[in-house]
Amino acid sequence: MSNRANWHQDTRAIHAGQSPDPTTGAIMTPVYLTSTYVQKSPGEHTGYEYSRTGNPTRTAMEGCLASLEGADHGLGFASGCAAASTVMHLFKAGDHLVCGDDLYGGTFRLFDAVWARHDMAYSFVDLSDGQKLREAVQENTRAVWVESPSNPLLKLADIRGLAQVCRELGLLLIVDNTFMSPCFQKPLELGADIVLHSTTKYIGGHSDVVGGFLGTSDDTLHEQLRYLQNAVGSIPGPLDCFLTLRGMKTLPIRMERHDTNAMAVARFLEGHAGVERVLYPGLESHPQHALAQEQASGFGGIVTFIIRGGLPGARAFMENTEVFACAESLGGVESLADHPAIMTHAAIPVAQREKLGIVDGLIRLSVGIEHVDDLLADLESALETARAATA
Ligand SMILES: *Cc1c(COP(=O)(O)O)cnc(C)c1O
Repeated sequence: MSNRANWHQDTRAIHAGQSPDPTTGAIMTPVYLTSTYVQKSPGEHTGYEYSRTGNPTRTAMEGCLASLEGADHGLGFASGCAAASTVMHLFKAGDHLVCGDDLYGGTFRLFDAVWARHDMAYSFVDLSDGQKLREAVQENTRAVWVESPSNPLLKLADIRGLAQVCRELGLLLIVDNTFMSPCFQKPLELGADIVLHSTTKYIGGHSDVVGGFLGTSDDTLHEQLRYLQNAVGSIPGPLDCFLTLRGMKTLPIRMERHDTNAMAVARFLEGHAGVERVLYPGLESHPQHALAQEQASGFGGIVTFIIRGGLPGARAFMENTEVFACAESLGGVESLADHPAIMTHAAIPVAQREKLGIVDGLIRLSVGIEHVDDLLADLESALETARAATA
């Protein structure tokens, strides 16, 4: 027990936050389907009183992911958006945040259409350029919100550099680490104050559960967030926590395969005549390849590319893959293809989308852990169909 903190990540993914069930010895943390807990005497309890406030299955999941992120504290949420919204409750009307300009569509909608109605102000800027942060900061700026790599354009932000500026200006730095997972990138070690996950993606990893997570090593911040988690009530249920916990046990080996498959897919697409451009941080052609190597230990499973033939080309491709399923979401064991302009990023106004470069031929692949030869053959065949359809 005493050396747990020193265990390697692969070992912690399986054991952290968990111990055999004290009453039966069950090796897997039970799904505690209970809303309340019997007290010996009023106020004399085991640490659990009511399941919005705490549930043992959730505690195990929170502890395991916190350990992987190198966070002193972790909190589970009903979804990534619920986690994001809970962070926003730290702020008050009149406050301002500086955010990356190609945030996940649902996060953008939450800020732009929901929290903006409560007088919260946002500037969406290209945080791959650190200077842009200083220019965007106002007197009422409280925090910086960034995804690295971003979605779907896979632009990187220099997290360490942003953290330095945030510390200097007294701003909180919140990093959405969904795309990298703690296996490849640890934002808190790079200086972020809060790390956020949509555990729906790589952490759960099997496309069977929606969830969110916040991690921090700042005790005061944790107390505020824990208070909000309970007060707002956007918690995950025990079965959700169990599925997420189970998924996490294989996170390190899944990430390895996602990474090698994605690299092979990126290289294949880069060499294909039907492809205009490939965006993947692992490619030497990625403008921030050096930064990717410096702040992350892997490049992840998401590959974005622009197909020749615009929308008709993209449509023909998406309709003709067999292994890659046309679906939103990412990070599961199965490969998915997404058309951001029509699917995940439709909530972003057209003008903004075009300015960002989310064009009609842009396709985002979530490369799964199937055999790489089947993935490449599937891409080859769908690209050929798309070429024939638009020739
Ligand atoms: C999916 C996603 C979210 C939102 O999470 P949900 O679990 O769908 O609410 C936030 N950020 C990123 C980067 C995502 O991919």
